[in-house]
Formats: sequence, C-alpha cells, structure tokens
Amino acid sequence: MDTIVLKFGGSSVADNLKLNIVAQKVIDLYDEGNNIVVVVSAQGKTTDNLIKEAKELSNLPEEREMDVLLSTGEQVSMSKLAILLNQLGYKSISLTGWQAGIYTSKESQNSKIEQIDTSRIEKELEKRKIVIIAGFQGINENEDITTLGRGGSDTTAVAVAAALNAKHCYIFSDVDGVYTTDPNKVTIAKKLETLSYKEMLEIANEGAKVLHNRCIEVGQKYHIPIITKSTFNNKPGTTLQDKIEDTNVKSIVKNDDIIYVHMKYETYSPELFSKLLKLLEKNNIGANNFVNNSIHSMDVYFTIKSTTLAKFQNLLENDLKAFDTTYKNITRIAIVGHGIMNDNKILEEAIKIVDLNNLEIINLEINESKLALMFSQKLSNTILEQLHIALIG
Ligand code: ADP
Ligand code: ASP
Ligand code: MG
Repeated sequence: MDTIVLKFGGSSVADNLKLNIVAQKVIDLYDEGNNIVVVVSAQGKTTDNLIKEAKELSNLPEEREMDVLLSTGEQVSMSKLAILLNQLGYKSISLTGWQAGIYTSKESQNSKIEQIDTSRIEKELEKRKIVIIAGFQGINENEDITTLGRGGSDTTAVAVAAALNAKHCYIFSDVDGVYTTDPNKVTIAKKLETLSYKEMLEIANEGAKVLHNRCIEVGQKYHIPIITKSTFNNKPGTTLQDKIEDTNVKSIVKNDDIIYVHMKYETYSPELFSKLLKLLEKNNIGANNFVNNSIHSMDVYFTIKSTTLAKFQNLLENDLKAFDTTYKNITRIAIVGHGIMNDNKILEEAIKIVDLNNLEIINLEINESKLALMFSQKLSNTILEQLHIALIG
C-alpha cells in the first residue's frame, strides 16, 4: 500500500465549506487504497491575527511564548478536519507535532526538523486511520513546543513524506501550481508544468510564498516528488523534478518585504562590527547583502525582512545606539531559470526596462540560475509585468 502525504494551506482550510472540499480530496485518495497522512496549516489569517494580538500585549513578545501561541492555529484545523472525516464515516485522528514525533532544533520561531519518530503515525495508519498532523510545529530537547518559521507547514509535509518514504507529497493551496510570476500580481502569468528543485529553491529563497524554502531542500535530499496543486480545481499542478531542462527564464519574483539598512560609525571597529553581527544572529534577524563601503570608517549596508523590523528597532534603541542608522523599504526582483548567467540577452533586456523606468539599482547579483536586482525604492507591479512580457511573453 502506498503512502501519500497531502498538505493543505491556510486558504484551503479557512472555513467549514472549504474543509468539506479538503475532506473529499482526502477521501478520494483514501478510497483508492492509499495510506493517507494529511498536514494542515492554521485556518485563513489565524497566524497573522495571533501575531497581531500578541503585539498588542507586548512590543517584543518572548519567542518561546509565540511558539506556544502560534502552534494553536494548526491544532484548530487538524481537529476540525478529523471531526469532519469521522462524521463522514472515515476513521481519522489528529496529532500535534510532538504526538507525531517531530523533533526539532532548540531555537524558537525558526526551528529545524532534526528527526521524526514515525512509530505513532505508523501505528495509526496500520489501523487504516487517516492521520492528520499539525503543520509548522514540533518539540525540542527541552520539551518546549517550537515552530518552523512562517510557511513552515510545507516543510512538515515534505519531512513527514521523507520519514515515511511516501510515494508523493502534494502541496494544495489557492493556486494550481507554480507560475512564471505571482499570478496575484501579474494576470498574464503562466503555470509551469515542471521545475527543477534548484530553480524552485531560488524562487522560494527570493520570497515567493508558494513553497517554503526548506521543504525543497528536504524534497531534493530524500527524492520526494513534490506536486503543487489547487484545492479548488482538478487541473494538473506543477511537479518538482530533479532535472535541468532548457535554458530560459522560468519565473520572476518581486519581493517588497525588504528593509534596506545603512549604518555609519566614524572609525572602523572590528569589535563593533562583530557585535552587530552577533546581535543580529542572536535575535534571529536574518541580515543579507552585507557591504561595508569603507576601510577607515563603518559604512555598512544590509537588508532585513520587514517582519523583523520591530526586533531591529529595539536593538537600535538599546545595544546599537553608537551607530548613525537609516533604513527604508525597497523592492528586490529576481529572475530565475537555469543557465541565466550564460545568456547576456536576459541582463540586457532587464537593464533596458530599468533604464526606461529611470530606476536606480543598488545591488545586482548573478549566478548560474538567478539574476537579482535590488532597487533604491519600493516599486509597483508594473515593472514586474514589463519584465515578464520582455523575458517570458
Ligand atoms: P498556503 O497558505 O496554501 O500555504 P501560500 O499563500 O503560502 O499558500 O502560497 C500561495 C501563494 O503564493 C499564492 O496565493 C500566490 O499569491 C503566491 N505566489 C507567489 N509567487 C508565486 C508563483 N510564482 N506561483 C504561484 N504562486 C505564487
Ligand atoms: N500557519 C503558519 C503560517 O501562517 C504556517 C503555515 O501556514 O505554513 O505561517
Ligand atoms: Mg504557504
């Protein structure tokens, strides 16, 4: 009997009507004679709302308590789906992260799955139960609940699929696959039939929500076929395949969730520089694109995600007062596809559009499968559409 893992995101489990659509998809695959493991996200905007409510109580809530709070969202959806499936006559059981044997690293809010003890899941599957697991959560060595970072239910699903040696891992969401750009930003975006893990990883790392970046690494490492599909239609989705196809642009990602930081201090101080790096790391503020423009003074530029701004502002007010700091919201656009570095035309076309729009590029990064441009300001979706027309059609 094959084991299939199905993951349903927040929009797929948002209300009772949608839970019925999910249940039908689960039942269809169960009735074909498969072992079914379902991983669910929190309903709709639950996680966003919980974060907002916690921030009304405290500007900087403890990360451990945020894990406890946010993990409740997934527990609501898993139990509702189990209640519904049981009512429909299909034996099912919901399991939290720790009940499902998902052990993670110690840190809060961005833990990594280290190991999965599948014995409980397997025991339930042997009884022909449908096993429903809370995505996004696990337990660490202190027996504290941990969470895997925003969008982390995808990683739960692929990791569980790897641990169970599942035949497929389906990621169901509100889009029927991975597109040539976010279809909610550019309407002419086209769905891709296949994509390599490497290309998908670049797309995810650049901030496209459609798949959590770490699930792609797990899928590639354990050779799990990942298929993204829509919960709301039966169209074929996008399959991740570990083969490199033709050289062309596959997808364009526009990320507006970026803060560009400039920090100055009159003399260069390795101690101060290392203090800055350590504080960013300790506070889980993933800083990227570091540049120091001078060897005599500190003239440091880097980017952070806008979701970490409150933590960064707190550091500026307390530990990093010595710096003269400014920051602003900017846009980064990444053009992804294997072989991009060898095709000069892609860079030429992109620069032509940048010049036509009188835009300033503050950072340009190119590797074999990505060309990324960072702009000095936040941009509308018009530029994304223009790049799409020029490079994809
Ligand atoms: P879920 O809540 O089911 O996990 P997400 O919101 O995380 O779903 O991911 C789906 C969203 O990803 C889509 O609604 C879409 O706006 C966004 N997205 C961004 N880039 C792409 C892309 N290239 N292809 C498809 N969807 C994309
Ligand atoms: N509920 C979590 C989030 O909104 C995890 C997930 O949806 O994957 O980030
Ligand atoms: Mg998601």
